Amino acid sequence: MLTKARVILKKYYGYDEFRPGQAKVIGSLLGGKDTIAIMPTGAGKSLCFQIPALLLPGITIVVSPLISLMKDQVDALTEAGIPATFINSSLSGSEAGRRLQHMRAGRYKLVYVAPERLTADWFLAVVGQLKISMLAIDEAHCVSQWGHDFRPSYRNVSTFIANLPARPVIGAFTATATPEVKNDIENLLALQWPQVHITGFDRPNLSFSVLRGENKPQFVQKYVKANAGQAGIIYAATRKEVDTLYTLLKKRGIAAGHYHAGLNDEERKFQQEQFLYDDIRVMVATNAFGMGIDKSNVRYVIHYNMPKNMESYYQEAGRSGRDGAPGECILLFGPQDPLLQRFLIDKSVEQPERKQHELKKLQEMVDYCHTPDCLRHYILQYFGEPTTEEGCGHCGNCTADGEQVDITVDAQKVFSCIYRLKERFGISVIADVLKGSKNKKVQQLGLDRLPTYGLMAERTVQAIKSLVQRLVATGYLRLTESEYPVVKLEPEASLVLRGETRVWQKVFTERQPVQDDTL
Ligand code: ADP
Ligand code: ZN
Repeated sequence: MLTKARVILKKYYGYDEFRPGQAKVIGSLLGGKDTIAIMPTGAGKSLCFQIPALLLPGITIVVSPLISLMKDQVDALTEAGIPATFINSSLSGSEAGRRLQHMRAGRYKLVYVAPERLTADWFLAVVGQLKISMLAIDEAHCVSQWGHDFRPSYRNVSTFIANLPARPVIGAFTATATPEVKNDIENLLALQWPQVHITGFDRPNLSFSVLRGENKPQFVQKYVKANAGQAGIIYAATRKEVDTLYTLLKKRGIAAGHYHAGLNDEERKFQQEQFLYDDIRVMVATNAFGMGIDKSNVRYVIHYNMPKNMESYYQEAGRSGRDGAPGECILLFGPQDPLLQRFLIDKSVEQPERKQHELKKLQEMVDYCHTPDCLRHYILQYFGEPTTEEGCGHCGNCTADGEQVDITVDAQKVFSCIYRLKERFGISVIADVLKGSKNKKVQQLGLDRLPTYGLMAERTVQAIKSLVQRLVATGYLRLTESEYPVVKLEPEASLVLRGETRVWQKVFTERQPVQDDTL
């Protein structure tokens, strides 16, 4: 069967070889086994269900969450000579009816549907009479509350399967690898003994870096100018920030576009197409931009703000270098970023358990911004893919000029301050005490009488906070998962306090903190 799969790969797609993981997933589906394929964006998931669809005798139904994404995929398939169609709310009743008739007549191998359609009687009536060989569930993390894009309509899938006259083989595809999401996919989609394949998370052609304390607008202008011929995306957290940055770039004569949910459909479409066809080089956008965009020659992705979690970050950053040529992924970390994301989580998530979960993921994102170790390794470990060698050698941390410095004394000051504070306060208070700040809270609580008060008076508060964050990121300290996270000492910190072990960290020159991060 795999030989046939390879022939199709060449004939319809023009590729000679499968990418890592693809052949296994295809083999597993063709072998009739339910399959969960966890592969990052751009790794080539679509092929993994499209090729089996062509080889299996009946029809494959593809559940897909986004109307625009469906149309793009079906257009591409049709162009390649593969009989496919989609059925969703963008069609008129008569057009949907026509497609259903063709479906009944066996004209399609692949039918894309939105999850809402799965329970529609008219759809079930037709599907119930057909041989459905496979059900491919794209963006399968949408079934899970723990994913970044929960869609209740995905819960229809299991009912749909149960109602089919014969159970097809089921393939679930996602880029989200956390254990909770994987379990939800398995359980809520009613998969049977699924084979799980996690592959392709490593994107060797991408280089990652995190810049802290940068003057963001200045950095972006310089960077964009220096890379004038290249396509790039700049993600910012809010519409307002997108528009301000966009205006600034335009003023400097840079051919930029903008994209966010505040623009109307027509304008968004126009902006997106301009970018796709290289009429503009730089797209300034919120995270609304990019789902389903297959532009291969994006050379850089700059995050103007830290996103809310590693999944979002990697998905967005991963839109660079899809053609395999180098891509640069730069995250501009600002001290306000975690606060903004906390605020957004507070505002949007009500259920306490879920809120805690989101905050935990936020902390893992903050840790990424502060780890002194290899950024690529941090990412791969996060997604559950094993890492072997020392460090990648080409991320910002691997290549930084920073030296391994013994920071034991600094760490001891921080730890003893936390100890004196009885592990009851968050990062801000700790930094204020070490700085010797005269703020009201410190005075009211009498914290200015602690022996650790003012121990780091010569540093800026921001530098002290950064140091604490680094000690969190490297596991000496832990933040509680509460609404106001409190810093706790980990056992490793006690060893340091007792002088039994030393703390070495690669220390980078922190840039001068910028007072005003806005434009
Ligand atoms: P995903 O859905 O995982 O984000 P896609 O299925 O859209 O990724 O594939 C990303 C790109 O990689 C597409 O342009 C696709 O044609 C290409 N691609 C997929 N498989 C291969 C392969 N075996 N060899 C070369 N290119 C491939
Ligand atoms: Zn590295």
